[in-house]
Amino acid sequence: MKQFAVRNLRLCTKDCLCLYVCPVGATDTEDSVIDRQKCTGCGLCAQACPSGAISMVPQTYPPQQPKEKPVLSAAHALAHSKAEEESMARKLAAESSEDALYRLLAAAEKSLRLVHEDLSRESGYMLPQSKNAKEKLQEWIQNPPTQDFPKEAAETLLEKIPCNEE
Ligand code: SF4
Ligand code: SF4
Repeated sequence: MKQFAVRNLRLCTKDCLCLYVCPVGATDTEDSVIDRQKCTGCGLCAQACPSGAISMVPQTYPPQQPKEKPVLSAAHALAHSKAEEESMARKLAAESSEDALYRLLAAAEKSLRLVHEDLSRESGYMLPQSKNAKEKLQEWIQNPPTQDFPKEAAETLLEKIPCNEE
């Protein structure tokens, strides 16, 4: 599988090892973003990085595994309820005047968000190149789920990231 290197700047400690090992100079850029055009995917920088700041990612993702409708429906229903609980925890945290209660509710909000994201990922909605993510974005562009739904960003995503299941 063809791959290329990406650098997580939050983990990078700037010791420059990746600059020394890259045979094509793809890691040596002004903005610290590894040059995807130059990168050959050899993986030397990721092996050399002492901070785990470089990951190798595939050029194109394989289509996701098909899921049975009942599984998808159950995941959707659960994700929906987790989103509602997350929103409730956020609202209660904002209204809370007690520090301990605020922190408890803020932690609950984060934890519910993670579960919600996991369920969305399992259902295929975290992969912008998947068919169901594409269909969901098209649906939301036609009927925005909220007033502040970023319609233009959704249109750009659809335009820039081709679906890999057609
Ligand atoms: S994977 Fe290889 S070519 Fe690509 S940036 Fe890392 S060392 Fe350079
Ligand atoms: S080797 Fe890793 S930590 Fe060092 S500069 Fe490169 S990305 Fe950053």
